[in-house]
Parts: sequence; C-alpha cells; structure tokens
Amino acid sequence: MSSTFRPIVYIISAPSGSGKSTLVNELLKLVPDLDFSISYTTRAPRGSEQNGKEYHFVSREEFEQMVRDDEFLEHASLYGRDYYGTARRFLREAEQKGHDLLLDIDVQGAAQIKQKLPDAVSIFVLPPDRKTLEWRLRKRGEDSDEVIERRLDAARREIENYDKYDYILINDDLEESIESLQAIVLSRRLPRALQPLSPEDKKIVERGDLHRLANIRHRVGPILSSFGAPPASARP
Ligand code: ADP
Ligand code: 5GP
Repeated sequence: MSSTFRPIVYIISAPSGSGKSTLVNELLKLVPDLDFSISYTTRAPRGSEQNGKEYHFVSREEFEQMVRDDEFLEHASLYGRDYYGTARRFLREAEQKGHDLLLDIDVQGAAQIKQKLPDAVSIFVLPPDRKTLEWRLRKRGEDSDEVIERRLDAARREIENYDKYDYILINDDLEESIESLQAIVLSRRLPRALQPLSPEDKKIVERGDLHRLANIRHRVGPILSSFGAPPASARP
C-alpha cells in the first residue's frame, strides 16, 4: 500500500560561519517530527565529527557507485574537490514515519531539489554583514587565515543567490533567529491543520511571513554591499 503522507522538505543554505549548524541543532530540538538528512560526503571528517552523525563519510569510489545506482536525490561537487549528496532513502524514511525532512545543502543542491520537488521550502541564512561573518569564523577557531579568506570570498558568491530562496533569515541575535526559524518551519505545517487559526498560530504565521523573500528583500542590500557584491538589480 502506498503512503499518502507527503513530507514537507525544508532546505537550509548559508555561507560557512553564518550560524547554520547552530540554528539547525536548536531547531531539531524544538520541532517534533522533523528528521535531518545526513548527507554523504567524500571530504574527511573535521574535529569531533563522527561518521553517521554529521555526515556519512565515504570514499570517492563509494560515492560514485551511489551516483550510478541513482541513490541520490541531489548531489554536487563543492570547492572543485569533494562530493556531497542527499540520499533518496531519507525522504522515503521520513514519508514512512510521517515526518518532515530538513536538508542542510548548498546553493547548487537547493536548485536541484527545487526542480524535483517544487513544494520544498527553502531558507537562506545570512550573516548581518561581512565583518560579523569574519569574526564568527575566527571565533569558531577551526580555520587558518588563508581558509578564512577563501570562505569569505566564497560567501560573497553564495550570498548573491539569496533571491532563489523562499525565506531569508538574517542571523543577528541568536535567540531571535531560532524563534524565527521555528516560526518559518511551523507556519508551513499549519495549512494542513483545521481553519481558522488560533491566535497563537496566527502569530506563528505572521512571524514566519516576515522572512519571506518579498518582505525582507530591502534588508539584504546593505549585507550584499558589505561583501562588495552587486545589488540584485544590477545582475543579469
Ligand atoms: P555554520 O554552520 O554556518 O558554518 P556555525 O553554526 O558553526 O556556522 O557558527 C559559526 C560561529 O558563530 C560559532 O562559533 C557559533 O557559535 C557562532 N554563532 C552562530 N550564530 C550566532 C549569533 N547569532 N550570534 C553570535 N554568534 C553566533
Ligand atoms: P562542510 O564541508 O563545511 O560541512 O559543508 C560545506 C557545504 O556543503 C555546506 O554549504 C553544506 O550545506 C553543503 N552540503 C552538505 N551536505 C550537502 C549535500 O548533501 N548536498 C549538497 N549539494 N550540499 C551539501
């Protein structure tokens, strides 16, 4: 018998150091029935990362075999070096459990998912400005100066894709951002529930809607400028 439950797929992308992992970890604690898709990657584990927790760490050969077996919903090559991919089985498992699914993937992966699953909800996390991003990368203490410079450069290019996302979250105050992210996620679950909305649910919808691209676009210009990126209107 085929299942009738269709999980909501949430995509979250951000330049490295924006606070995405911090936000995702908090979100998963707060929102029930939300599964995290543990990606496959060919990159080596960093620091305290464990196989099967942050990622499934596999060899290039294993990854390529999975591609041939059509096991990925999307996959991308990042930094011209490592492969990253979302396994189809996470979506199947979420469906069976009646859970929604959260993907932490890059801009290329997000575009692939949106093409295959147009109802997926995409969220882009932005740092308040370049200086703050640089400070967070230094504070995290994982990268050399050279790597930080590269990440800042990559951030500028990634940020230019913000307008391909449904929601924008500017991660300034952490508590506020967690509440907003939770509201975005929960608000997308509400239309399935019975109408009319309770006053509490209305608040959630209003809070989530503040972060829709159309409603927050005006705040992105100064962030793009701080990275020396052209404003959206100047791009083809
Ligand atoms: P990412 O997953 O996007 O690479 P992290 O979650 O590792 O980023 O966050 C980078 C650093 O910034 C960490 O030291 C984290 O504690 C810190 N951080 C995250 N969000 C905020 C925030 N809103 N304000 C201040 N520091 C933050
Ligand atoms: P990191 O190596 O720092 O953990 O991640 C680098 C980038 O890869 C991040 O932007 C992260 O969102 C992205 N990423 C992680 N898993 C996947 C995946 O399965 N597919 C794609 N396309 N990107 C991923």
